[in-house]
Amino acid sequence: MKISVPKEIKNHEYRVGLVPHAVAELTHQGHQVFVETQAGAEIGFSDQDYIDAGATILATAEETFDAGEMIVKVKEPQLHECARLKPSQTLFTYLHLAADKPQAEALMASGATCIAYETVTEAAGGLPLLRPMSEVAGRISVHVGATYLHKAFGGRGVLLGGVPGVAPAKVVIIGGGVSGINAAQMAVGLHADVTLFDISGAKLIEIDQLFHGRVKTAYSSKGALAEAIRDADLVIGAVLIPGAAAPKLVTRDMLKTMKQGAVLVDIAIDQGGCFETSHPTTHQDPIYLVDGIVHYCVANMPGAVARTSTLALNNATLPFVLKMARMGVSAALAADPHLRNGLNVANGKITYQAVAEALHLPF
Ligand code: NAD
Repeated sequence: MKISVPKEIKNHEYRVGLVPHAVAELTHQGHQVFVETQAGAEIGFSDQDYIDAGATILATAEETFDAGEMIVKVKEPQLHECARLKPSQTLFTYLHLAADKPQAEALMASGATCIAYETVTEAAGGLPLLRPMSEVAGRISVHVGATYLHKAFGGRGVLLGGVPGVAPAKVVIIGGGVSGINAAQMAVGLHADVTLFDISGAKLIEIDQLFHGRVKTAYSSKGALAEAIRDADLVIGAVLIPGAAAPKLVTRDMLKTMKQGAVLVDIAIDQGGCFETSHPTTHQDPIYLVDGIVHYCVANMPGAVARTSTLALNNATLPFVLKMARMGVSAALAADPHLRNGLNVANGKITYQAVAEALHLPF
């Protein structure tokens, strides 16, 4: 199969769809890989590294999109990238369509087969292509939360772990999935006072056992959340309803009860955000204040540690890329129900129910 890897073009996005080791696996199996020049240069993968792995370097995005039967990316395509896709092509990348109608319509218009990393499943019930980025985002959320609690950034001037004789900061994590657990690991590591909310009883039991009592667990009811938010220094939003827009769990009214200079980190912003006052921000301009509360809502948090993130993502995506290259996309989709769950757009239609419902489009 011919596989293309364009350079990512979103603001401060340095990740790349395939690293040279992944390209080498494909070329060793007889596939052709086309990589846009400088696609991995910012994170230490030079054009020569890709050439050594057997890739062909192409000079422009246009040529790169044109060359492949399958396009492997990281972020959702921008509208002018959607316009480059052809009905014969497969796009394999993050799409997050539930909160992005223009992109959904552009992909429908392209006629291409679009498989979204974030809805591919696995036998154990998890989301294997979301997991590595959620691990990274969860871990970073505590780094950034700790940083923006500094006075210089509008924060409360509170050290997450406290010091002997001074109580640690209160961290509330909403959602005890992959990113929530990874956030809890970092927050506990920094000696913060951590409470984690979920609506899944099984999750609460798992977290209680995992952290041996170092993390308090609570059922995510409106009332219990409101109480915890009032006292929190740092709130991390890490909920997910797969393929659907995030529920708004922290309202503007709840914000008014919070301590001035407290910090909200909305990891779920890529699904629309779980705080009513969230709107997406960028690495260049990551925070804003509402009612004296610092909001950090960067939609591509893993981009901050793009090399770690790219390597982690490739570990998860490569088996699927190899399978589609070997079998052909249609046969791979027919044979693998978990890959098929990733199919979001095909033949001009939305093929994922939660996305269709969120966007009021036919399914
Ligand atoms: P996950 O499925 O592993 O965990 C989500 C958890 O939320 C589950 O345990 C679920 O029970 C819980 N949940 C659902 N509704 C809830 C509610 N009302 N109250 C409390 N908990 C609730 O998901 P994840 O992999 O941790 O991803 C979380 C979010 O982070 C997703 O929206 C994902 O797209 C996003 N994400 C964002 C970035 C970024 O850069 N901003 C990076 C990676 C992932």
